[in-house]
Amino acid sequence: MPYPYQPETLLAQALGDIDATTGALIPAIHNSTTYQRDTDNGYSRGRIYSRADNPGYEPVERVLTELEQGADALVFASGMAASVAVFQALQPGAHVIAPVVMYWSLRNWLKQFSQQWQIEVSFVDTSDTAAVAAALQPGKTELVWLETPGNPLWTVADIQAICGMAHDAGARVVVDSTVATPIHTQPLLLGADLVMHSATKYLNGHSDVIAGALVTARDDDFWQRLIKQRSQGGAVLGPFEAALLLRGMRTLAIRVRECSANAQRLAEHLNAHPAVEEVLYPGLPGFAGHEVARKQMRNGFGGMLSVRIKGGAAAAIQVAASLKVWKRATSLGGVESLVEHRASIEGEGTPVPDDLLRLSVGIEAVSDLMSDFDSALGQL
Ligand code: PLP
Repeated sequence: MPYPYQPETLLAQALGDIDATTGALIPAIHNSTTYQRDTDNGYSRGRIYSRADNPGYEPVERVLTELEQGADALVFASGMAASVAVFQALQPGAHVIAPVVMYWSLRNWLKQFSQQWQIEVSFVDTSDTAAVAAALQPGKTELVWLETPGNPLWTVADIQAICGMAHDAGARVVVDSTVATPIHTQPLLLGADLVMHSATKYLNGHSDVIAGALVTARDDDFWQRLIKQRSQGGAVLGPFEAALLLRGMRTLAIRVRECSANAQRLAEHLNAHPAVEEVLYPGLPGFAGHEVARKQMRNGFGGMLSVRIKGGAAAAIQVAASLKVWKRATSLGGVESLVEHRASIEGEGTPVPDDLLRLSVGIEAVSDLMSDFDSALGQL
């Protein structure tokens, strides 16, 4: 039976399960790596060795399955481990479409390793649905990878439209929904086959766990290959990390709403600032992806935005250096606000302009975040 209450209730109570043995509201942490065989040499409890799974994964995976309204979920050691598992589960020779604007580490992995896996990758502007249609090779394209909003220019891909055309061509669609989270978008309900989350970000929300997750629309052969990729490849999450992740997820709904509300206010404020060249944020009516974002996002437009500073790279780096409330650090989706000169980390070949600062907006008082930015911009 599907979970009968709202996502906020599902999250706050982590499905409301009570431990049958102890009555505990919070699941125990099981750090045993191995399990005893029965006297008849069987494993009637279904557990053998903790590289296959861990009892602590189950509540996290069930909460994610319900939130995304999928059929099953798998947690991984990181978002990258979850993503790479998908590509390693493809058949040799597969053609893949991936976005030009995407998480840079996965783009780098695809550029470095796809050939030796005999995967052919077309990097396409996935915010242009017609460009995706033109790149699809019916019968050959196995996978369309979307990331929306796309890090760090926050380009928006039309999930529903792309899923329709990809399925007609025989390709499956995977959405990196790390930035949208299930609070804003449920890609499986828009037709996607799989959702990937870097659970390091909003799902955990406290910058203290590296984790990843996949959620599937159906338990098919491809999903079975992914289960094997995790248990045999061994990119497993630690039991303590799984427990921290479940704790973080309990507050996902209120954190994401607050981050988004703060981001919207900041985007509007900075958009009117004379020292700012451009603000990139799906919640701004003038932003290229705004209309599609309105269609597929609810409860706001996410906590991530980027600002281009007049005066180029030096000015942008100076602004980051002058900020006091914002922390200069990579990553995103935590309760504390982070700023990053993104081109410095992505290096050569990045589509990111060098005057751009990426902002991960936290849950601090928005007045503090704004006045800190005003004073840093004022020092230019
Ligand atoms: N996807 C997005 C959008 C990300 O921002 C990141 C990390 O920054 C990842 C995937 C990779 O996640 P992880 O760092 O957990 O491997």
